[in-house]
Amino acid sequence: MVHIFCLEEKCRSVIHLDSHKHWNFKGKVRCLKCGAEFEIGVEKGELKSSKRSDQK
Ligand SMILES: [Zn+2]
Repeated sequence: MVHIFCLEEKCRSVIHLDSHKHWNFKGKVRCLKCGAEFEIGVEKGELKSSKRSDQK
């Protein structure tokens, strides 16, 4: 299971990526709490990159 933290400073909640497909994953995830969207790259369960994808 992969955990990332929401990049929204006011939120910072944990986003659980518990599907096995997220073990190696590149794409968008959405924070369920604040709705912010991120582009992340995960390799072998390790977060390699993350950035806001809906930044204005
Ligand atoms: Zn959030």
